[in-house]
Amino acid sequence: MNTITIEQAKKINNRDVFAMNNEKNSDGTCVRWRVNGKVKTWKTRPNEFKIPVKHGMYDYGYITEKNINMFHLNGTCKECGF
Ligand SMILES: [Zn+2]
Repeated sequence: MNTITIEQAKKINNRDVFAMNNEKNSDGTCVRWRVNGKVKTWKTRPNEFKIPVKHGMYDYGYITEKNINMFHLNGTCKECGF
């Protein structure tokens, strides 16, 4: 399982894509969430970040240091090749 560091989180770009480690589409690929805004970080809380993401037409959420271990980034997955 790959997670990202705070330094990596700060470099996440709008339209980067995360895939979920344990949620699969019907074709066996990992469910993907697309970044749709700016990454939020705080000087006073250097280990925290908040990445806005969107899935499909209607699902919106955030990836943070608390749930990042549920996701992987492009090029890190043996299962979906993503
Ligand atoms: Zn995957």
